[in-house]
Amino acid sequence: MALQFNLLNQTEAGGRRAQLILPHQTVETPVFMPVGTAGTVKAVAQDVLESLDAQIILGNTYHLYLRPGHEAIRRMGGLHRFISWPRALLTDSGGFQVFSLSQLRKVSDEGVRFRSHLDGSSHFFTPEHSMDVQIALGADIAMAFDECTEYPADRRRAEESLRLTMAWARRSLDHFRAHREEVPWYREKGCRAQHLFGIVQGGMYRDLRRESAERLVEMDFDGYAIGGLSVGEPRDLTLEMISEVLPLLPNDKPRYVMGVGYPDEIEQYARMGVDMMDCVLPTRAARHGLLFTSEGRINIKGKKYAEDQGPPDPACDCMVCRRYTRAYLRHLMQAGEALSGTLNSIHNLAYYLGIMKRVRSRLQTQD
Ligand SMILES: [Zn+2]
Repeated sequence: MALQFNLLNQTEAGGRRAQLILPHQTVETPVFMPVGTAGTVKAVAQDVLESLDAQIILGNTYHLYLRPGHEAIRRMGGLHRFISWPRALLTDSGGFQVFSLSQLRKVSDEGVRFRSHLDGSSHFFTPEHSMDVQIALGADIAMAFDECTEYPADRRRAEESLRLTMAWARRSLDHFRAHREEVPWYREKGCRAQHLFGIVQGGMYRDLRRESAERLVEMDFDGYAIGGLSVGEPRDLTLEMISEVLPLLPNDKPRYVMGVGYPDEIEQYARMGVDMMDCVLPTRAARHGLLFTSEGRINIKGKKYAEDQGPPDPACDCMVCRRYTRAYLRHLMQAGEALSGTLNSIHNLAYYLGIMKRVRSRLQTQD
């Protein structure tokens, strides 16, 4: 079944309000997707994510493949059931972590051989294998296997990387189409299958980005992601690449910018017509004591908060801000208490999800 993406409203600036109908959840877009690396959004339990109104979360294929293993997860009914998450899931292709975390990588046209960062064991990932692993995990959305081009990359390197990503996109799609019905929940969900998104790469070269987008659209994926951004480049370059690619993507399919960003960035991109975004920033920063608030970023470790009886963010009505003080959050951090990461993460996620909620309601009423 084709992916259902119902556009409800579109503004002149390109921002759109839509419903993305996935096998496990109807997702209201634009949406921010918390990252659940190894089957958990770090330090935040699933029922809390539900109460924060998270509609879709990410799982990282590389981590889940290494531990506990995709076959084990398949035997347990897929990732939704294994982690007790009834709403939507998206898995990445494993490519990004293979390139960023693993050791002794060897890339060929066939695929990537790498050593696990956990125990040094040797593994070989191909586009076909990435699809098999993602089908076993059974997220609602899987991603084509790609090479995330590093920054900076010279023209030749970016071209070569793009050539690989395009060949792998074709192979991912062919293999996926032949096996997409093998997801663990296929019958249970009324014979609805998984969806596959292609990933636009091309480094920071506008023409390579255009070429990548056009070729992927020709292949006809269920949705399109823009990858290889937020890899250390200046922000105006990120924006330039997104602006270059968005008009080339079909209006009736979802667009996902991977791995962004700061609160003002996700708002800006959503207003331009990006439907989906994910980032580890709210949860990672939280574990380091960095809170995103309506008054800007605050570092809760600061001595000035030692006896601050105010809420973390006076404008936030999340469960943390309603109950706890800055002084208490600082104390938890200072004492190295496990609750620290949990409470900080809950607030930051509430802040990110709240931004998207406001953007959605504004997009709803604008023409
Ligand atoms: Zn809050």
